[in-house]
Amino acid sequence: MSFFFVIIVRSLKQVNKVLHIRFVLCVPFIKVVEYYRGDRRRMSRQNDIEMMKLALERAVESAAMGEVPVGAVLVGSDGRILASAGNNTICDCDPTGHAEIRVLRLAAAKMKNYRLPETTLYVTLEPCAMCASAMIHARVKRVVFGATDPKTGALISRYNFGTDNLLNHSFFFTAGIMEKECSRILQDFFQKRR
Ligand SMILES: [Zn+2]
Repeated sequence: MSFFFVIIVRSLKQVNKVLHIRFVLCVPFIKVVEYYRGDRRRMSRQNDIEMMKLALERAVESAAMGEVPVGAVLVGSDGRILASAGNNTICDCDPTGHAEIRVLRLAAAKMKNYRLPETTLYVTLEPCAMCASAMIHARVKRVVFGATDPKTGALISRYNFGTDNLLNHSFFFTAGIMEKECSRILQDFFQKRR
């Protein structure tokens, strides 16, 4: 009887040892996963900043032409830039010539598809209702903007286009990427015009 007892205790100790070893092996694995997740978040934010810098370059070009300085970039799911453009309403005599509409048009023509799923649209200023609607029609997946627009912003300031689940498509959005720089270029532009 005592022989069987000894065998059972030894077996339990062995199981405990194995489980402990497994747990110890899990710790570095968990650390790697946590690091990877954190690193991906950092990389994603860094990527947002890089794309917003490019959108700002388009905004600067628009300002040089006397247009309201707003710039946009459309990026595919693989990170490839599909189109970039700035406002061009005055030069093109086009009331729909906002930077967002222009990148959607350019990318749709390039992709030969009026739907642009899995894309991310970067824009220096919170989109207006017209542009937000166009993004819904194009099935844009994510929108990233810099400065908010208290007068005509349609994502958070005036309306909740694309996020209120009232329409047949919704997108994710991130606000405030390079907000100061995106606001300053508009303030400088309007101050010079006064
Ligand atoms: Zn617009």
